[in-house]
Amino acid sequence: FVNADEDPLKVQDGSADNLKATEKETYEFQTEVSRLMKIIINSLYKTREIFLRELISNASDAIDKIRFLSLTDPNALSANPNLNITVKADPTNRILIIRDSGIGMTKKHLKENLGTIAKSGTSEFLDAMEKGKADMSLIGQFGVGFYSVFLVADRVVVASKHNDDKQYIWESTAVNDFSIAEDPRGNTLGRGTEIQLYLKEDGLEYLDEKRLQNLIKKYSEFINFPIYLSVHRT
Ligand code: ADP
Ligand code: MG
Repeated sequence: FVNADEDPLKVQDGSADNLKATEKETYEFQTEVSRLMKIIINSLYKTREIFLRELISNASDAIDKIRFLSLTDPNALSANPNLNITVKADPTNRILIIRDSGIGMTKKHLKENLGTIAKSGTSEFLDAMEKGKADMSLIGQFGVGFYSVFLVADRVVVASKHNDDKQYIWESTAVNDFSIAEDPRGNTLGRGTEIQLYLKEDGLEYLDEKRLQNLIKKYSEFINFPIYLSVHRT
């Protein structure tokens, strides 16, 4: 991976609270998702770092998908031709940002992918987790790796732009519902997904440059796209 120090971090407030012109819709999480989130939030699991593995793996999957599409549709990449992943830390505001130029999610995708669990076997995982008998690091194998963000963050804002839709913002503060709104900033991504993690007190170690470098090295072994890291100090 590359240190992108020359690329200063610019945190734009992606919060849907600031919406004026566009409407914010609130949805309830599927019961299983709420159950899972409660387990994750209350987890005493020590190895919280796995959230970064899950986000990098999702980013990589998303880039694979747009690259595959581009084999038959040469215009698929034009909104954002550079295929890469960026990790940015903003210690001042305690935000960690993971951005990819992958396929992105439409409004419908955001609602379905980050609000319901489609895969079977999740109930067994939940049962085992509630009894303290499952290993949190297996979360990715149950198709619910995204929710591991709540190991380290208590507010998560996902902005996403898919070629077939406008840019939308999904937001959750880890309770029973989430919101989706058209992004008032417009199309800032071109194409792809940007995930802002508002870190909890015990997640602040993930703003440390050395810690992030080591983790990205560890988790990027099988990732075929460049990963850039920048830590913004003020
Ligand atoms: P899995 O990766 O096993 O499907 P996750 O919980 O990690 O499970 O992610 C759920 C779904 O959310 C993914 O299948 C994908 O459709 C969508 N998703 C998550 N992150 C991204 C991303 N960065 N870009 C596009 N889609 C994403
Ligand atoms: Mg995943």
